[in-house]
Amino acid sequence: MPVTAKIPLAGIPPEELPELLGSLPPYRSVQIGKWLSRGVRSFSDMTDLPESLRAELEKRFILRSGSVSARLEDDDGTVKLQISLSDGLRIETVLLTDGEGRRTACLSTQAGCPAGCVFCKTGSLGFRRNLTAAEMVEQFLRLRDIEGDIANIVIMGMGEPLLNLAEVRRALGIFTNPRAFALSARRITLSTCGIIDGIRELTDAGPGIRLALSLTTGDEKLREELMPLGRSNPLALLREALRSHQRKWGQRITLEAVLLGGINTRDADAEAIAAFAEGLDVAVNLIPWNPVEGMTFRGMALREPTGRELRGINAGLERRGIKVTRRFRRGRGISGACGQLGLMEPGAGGSGMDHELSPLVR
Ligand code: SF4
Repeated sequence: MPVTAKIPLAGIPPEELPELLGSLPPYRSVQIGKWLSRGVRSFSDMTDLPESLRAELEKRFILRSGSVSARLEDDDGTVKLQISLSDGLRIETVLLTDGEGRRTACLSTQAGCPAGCVFCKTGSLGFRRNLTAAEMVEQFLRLRDIEGDIANIVIMGMGEPLLNLAEVRRALGIFTNPRAFALSARRITLSTCGIIDGIRELTDAGPGIRLALSLTTGDEKLREELMPLGRSNPLALLREALRSHQRKWGQRITLEAVLLGGINTRDADAEAIAAFAEGLDVAVNLIPWNPVEGMTFRGMALREPTGRELRGINAGLERRGIKVTRRFRRGRGISGACGQLGLMEPGAGGSGMDHELSPLVR
């Protein structure tokens, strides 16, 4: 857990502020809530509060608990921030800008990840701890500091969000709260490696955000090898959980397939994905694996799919009536692309990001 004793206000939903602030009149918590949603960086910037109150707040609370320890910008406009948490662990968060200038924040939910997917560098580094809601909101604020408005959030950074669902739901509550960031739930996508209990909880309790499943392959045995948590989350039950979510929230589901050259790019793989998709409204997002040095499967080095393999599985899916999208390859130059986000230990490295030092996530 973070070692700071002061409470980080970034993780407090507006409705909890009055109780936390104690004896202050209700209008004060409304004022403070507004400052928080504007991303104010210092209590002294809360200019409509008396100075004595600002000083009091400063004693009890902090606005942000981490600090930006490095920033990298790719030629395509992707920005990756490395954030040092209050206990010294470092995580990464990414700002993506599409061709029309819309900005998307890609947030991390854990330092490291316990899921251990073999193609993901985050998984290979193991699990350190869950992030708090405040640490997730802080990533959003720090990305917003860079460029202003952010249109979308994707929860696809480091970690498996459904293994930290309580804090993730708390952060989602703040993002979608009309008195905080007021983002529509439809503009938020959570990507999971397929934790059935978590999907069910999200279905029951909301919010109705979009779901993306990191499917990778519809071949159950291969999937269990590539994604060890598949063993306790079988495909048939997973599909049923997604179907229930879709029935309740009516959102199209994205099936993500990280394509590994020579492993999951045959026509049989297209067939297996199509079989999994049956009865669901989905789009399949094909994600050519982003190279991370030293990663192996069955004793062989992983490799990117060839252009031919890519075209082959794409055509195989389309022939079976599946809508296919390709993830834009952004951020590769700064290890900010899918599968490349990094975790650094306290003291490791120094200032400045080294591409090779920080490769990792989905
Ligand atoms: S792909 Fe996602 S769930 Fe799998 S190890 Fe990486 S971060 Fe964890």
